[in-house]
Amino acid sequence: MTTITRFAPSPTGHLHVGNIRTALHNWLLAKKNGGRFLLRIDDTDAARSREEYVDAIRANLAWLGLEPDAEERQSQRLEKYEAAFAALKEAGRVYPAYETAQELELKRKIQLGRGLPPIYDRGALALTDEQRKANEAAGTAPHWRFRLDHEEPIRWEDGVRGPQEFDATQLSDPVIRRADGSWLYMLPSAVDDLDMGITDVLRGEDHVSNTAVQIQMFTALIAALRPAQQIPRFAHEALLVGKEGKLSKRLGSLGCDAFRERDIEPETLIALLARLGTSQPVEPIADRERIVETFDLATFGRAPAKFDDTELDRLNAAIVHQMAFEDVADRLPAGMDEAGWHAVRPNLAHIGEAGGWWRLVTGPIAPPRLEEEDRAYLAEAAATLEWSDDPWHSLTNALKSRTGRKGKQLFMPLRQALTGLDHGPDMSELLPLIGEDEVRARLERAAA
Ligand code: GLU
Repeated sequence: MTTITRFAPSPTGHLHVGNIRTALHNWLLAKKNGGRFLLRIDDTDAARSREEYVDAIRANLAWLGLEPDAEERQSQRLEKYEAAFAALKEAGRVYPAYETAQELELKRKIQLGRGLPPIYDRGALALTDEQRKANEAAGTAPHWRFRLDHEEPIRWEDGVRGPQEFDATQLSDPVIRRADGSWLYMLPSAVDDLDMGITDVLRGEDHVSNTAVQIQMFTALIAALRPAQQIPRFAHEALLVGKEGKLSKRLGSLGCDAFRERDIEPETLIALLARLGTSQPVEPIADRERIVETFDLATFGRAPAKFDDTELDRLNAAIVHQMAFEDVADRLPAGMDEAGWHAVRPNLAHIGEAGGWWRLVTGPIAPPRLEEEDRAYLAEAAATLEWSDDPWHSLTNALKSRTGRKGKQLFMPLRQALTGLDHGPDMSELLPLIGEDEVRARLERAAA
């Protein structure tokens, strides 16, 4: 059976790094198995869903190179949910409830006050037909709950957490539909997962108890409507936390725009998020194929995955150092060619720094800071300079035997004179880019 995964964001805000990680892992799981990756826009909440967020989600996935094979939208599938609802009602698995939010809150408080878990008491399930009619006659529109089956424990083999077991009596019958007819996330998601042939539901561990409930929905839907189908496999990954070990507000708003502003490469984010929280080391892997090949849910740990910005920056430098000219050409300063890219690349932590280094080639450079005794040395360098395929090595070799200088004394005044700095790209790569006339001029200027 072809693996089909989905990423199902609600377009009520921008994707944050935790969502990006979930999207990535679903994409990887599909690619690893030669399967399909769907984007499902969970936009049943019409009041909070916004089209600009849908556009941003698509744009972010494109930037990350996680393009979906297909896109679905819950708002276009409402009649499917209606049909599922009718079938579940027919099967006695949904029931109307009339409590107000305040009443439910009060019940919760009383339970908690007695040291009991705040499980819905099924008050509405116990109503007689007359009582229901009285509620309707009083103008109270019902919301709807899914009736959990209390007979059997709910079990599944979780792809990350191993065997899971829930006692349904310890769960509230979930509200699946509001009094205004709108849907909560649970039922539409189960209907879609069946309709779209989702084989693997991979999401954060904050969904574990939803899974327990949804497994019963899947079972009921399959029995009522789709006898040939199967419940998907489930895997719940540990959540992403900040370095300090807590779920931080900052992480919750850290998204692709912020990474782009910090000039972080999508491949850096991918390399980090693919491995964080797994037993595999985080490595600067720029080759997406290798990320796909080595992805393995069995390596995912139960401890929260710690997101560390300094690790991201370190990784970015290592990724940039591997990037080919073709992949970065449109982001480089005008005139910078492949040789220029190769010269400055090892000095970059971010691609945006290329312009700063390129100015060493195009000039003007900062006035060098030189010792008096070095001026004569630089005058000698200007006189010695002979242009060749490798002018730096011929120059330094010649100066070495003429002056007896070596090491720092030999190289540093030259670097200062030619770039105005005491550190920077490999001089042998810079010289051909600066060109003979300008190299000579810089040496002469520094000597004067
Ligand atoms: N829209 C849901 C969410 O963002 C989807 C959860 C799921 O993957 O099923 O939490």
